[in-house]
Amino acid sequence: MTPSIIAIDGPAASGKSTLGLRLAGALGYLFFDTGVMYRAVTWLALQRGLDPRDEDAVTSLAEKTPIEVAPASTSDGRACDVSVEGQDITWETRLPHVEANVSVVSAYRGVRRALSDQQRRIGLRGKVVMVGRDIGTVVLPDADLKIYLDASAEQRATRRYHELLLRGANADYAEILAKVVERDRIDSTRDVAPLKAADDAIVIDSDALNADEVFKQALALCQ
Ligand code: C5P
Repeated sequence: MTPSIIAIDGPAASGKSTLGLRLAGALGYLFFDTGVMYRAVTWLALQRGLDPRDEDAVTSLAEKTPIEVAPASTSDGRACDVSVEGQDITWETRLPHVEANVSVVSAYRGVRRALSDQQRRIGLRGKVVMVGRDIGTVVLPDADLKIYLDASAEQRATRRYHELLLRGANADYAEILAKVVERDRIDSTRDVAPLKAADDAIVIDSDALNADEVFKQALALCQ
């Protein structure tokens, strides 16, 4: 039987969203990228002039602000729509100053509790591919299929570098690599819900695989 709740975890830029989106499309499931919620809280905190290191203020913001995540309404390269208080902030959540602060914000216990509760409610409805860092370990520990998508930091930075070049953006490989390594360090060493593979996750190492090969492997696991 096709698994109904599919969890995909892994480090930054490992291709989780690309895989999750394709898998959800092939199965007719909802694709839910939980990283956008942490990015949205971080963007909002910065927008309001809060210090991302102010745990109490950021937590209270996360607790009282609903973050809407919906299937993409425009085909401008987005994987889903992210909005807060009626404002579409999908691309704002990708800005470098958000990315530079998101791992600090996502390490707060209260922020994680507020967002994980919303994620769990959506995940438990089933027919979902949920992507993040702690989906198989904390958010949906009873998921039917857990995939941990891994790749070396160098490979992930190289892919991110080419993505940026394709979009016509400025890209500096050494800088991208340093940021990816730093985000992984914070995400995997935090006390609450650190990045790690669940004991029952199937690890796919994509260092030697392209996106099609990763997709085929994951689809075969679903069948
Ligand atoms: O996946 P993405 O790179 O968009 O995630 C942004 C950040 O959000 C991660 O670096 C991590 O700090 C946080 N995150 C998390 N738990 C999740 C998803 C994302 O802590 N389930």
